[in-house]
Amino acid sequence: MSVLRFGIAVFLGLTLMTIKAPANPETPAKVEVQPFGAIGSGQKADLYTLTNRKGMVVSITNFGATIVSIKVPDRAGKVDDVTLGFDTPKEYEDGKSYFGATVGRYGNRIANGEFVLDGKTYTLPKNDGPNTLHGGTIGFNKRIWTAKEVPSKEGAAVQFTYVSPDGEEGFPGTLTATVVFTLYKDKNELKIDYSASTDKPTVVNLTNHSYFDLAGQNHGNILDEIMQINATRFTPVSATLIPTGELREVKDTPFDFTHPTVIGARIDGSDEQLKFGHGYDHNWVLDRKAGSSNLIVAAIAHDPNSGRVLEVLTTEPGVQFYTGNFLDGTAKGKGGYAYPHRSAFCLETQHFPDSPNHPNFPSTTLLPGKEYSSTTIFRFSVK
Ligand code: BGC
Repeated sequence: MSVLRFGIAVFLGLTLMTIKAPANPETPAKVEVQPFGAIGSGQKADLYTLTNRKGMVVSITNFGATIVSIKVPDRAGKVDDVTLGFDTPKEYEDGKSYFGATVGRYGNRIANGEFVLDGKTYTLPKNDGPNTLHGGTIGFNKRIWTAKEVPSKEGAAVQFTYVSPDGEEGFPGTLTATVVFTLYKDKNELKIDYSASTDKPTVVNLTNHSYFDLAGQNHGNILDEIMQINATRFTPVSATLIPTGELREVKDTPFDFTHPTVIGARIDGSDEQLKFGHGYDHNWVLDRKAGSSNLIVAAIAHDPNSGRVLEVLTTEPGVQFYTGNFLDGTAKGKGGYAYPHRSAFCLETQHFPDSPNHPNFPSTTLLPGKEYSSTTIFRFSVK
């Protein structure tokens, strides 16, 4: 009897201790969902907010599987939103800049809106001069994705799925694309896992188009921020930003970011490639063993004022470093802030632009029965 009473007392004691235990001073890792608003058709989008225990908060909408904000602490612990974007889904729908979006079915350009696969020519919408950009007129960034929270031991995670019908925007094959965003609970890292499968041979190149300003999204331009890109070659382009096919050494050019370099130091130089891009808008060929796809550090950005550091890791062979050259203050973003020229940089991990028309580039062809998979990590810290 007394053993039983002792047992009950211990049980109650432990229960009370659990209830009374002081609250964990750190926020638990979690996902919260709230309505984000409607697009033109009346369809509604939601906003998924992922929080970790280290002060990082990421919001993602199922409209375009788009990262709406990334809030991270600076050196002094002050939290700022470091990505450009809008406050409503309708503005994303009307926007032309791909802020934070998941880009597909084919990220970046396909020359003359055309490619040949298995002897058949496919014609795509030309939505960027003579070329196709970021999947065509209504790319994956303008679609509502199906969302669900996914259990993950690593942290808060949400999965988005979009089924792109055969022939959509001219691409062959029904493509089922999935993107999982995981915010590690104990690290300020956002992991993006892409996967896709098809029922006919097709081409795929998925990326995320976040625009970063490590000083905060409403802090002028990024020309004083510092960039390192772990690539000794890049793919030079024609005047309409289509790769010529050459893999050019960056050595002795303004494209050499193999050591940390101020972004604005050479951006307005006389190099023809900079003229074509109106600044940096090029694909760097990441230094990795040919054919390997292990996760490597592609680029490291640093804002000396706030101390924030962003490392981008990827399994992809390339990264598009774009310095917001087409931003001109007309896009009014979050909080009504009009984003000036070069107010952010993008690091779009990817296969090379126009790969379907360049047999010497790593292949972007996906066959039925095969799985496309790719991972990118945005890792934040301070120094
Ligand atoms: C392209 C730029 C384009 C930007 C926004 C980048 O990936 O390379 O040329 O202006 O996306 O669409």
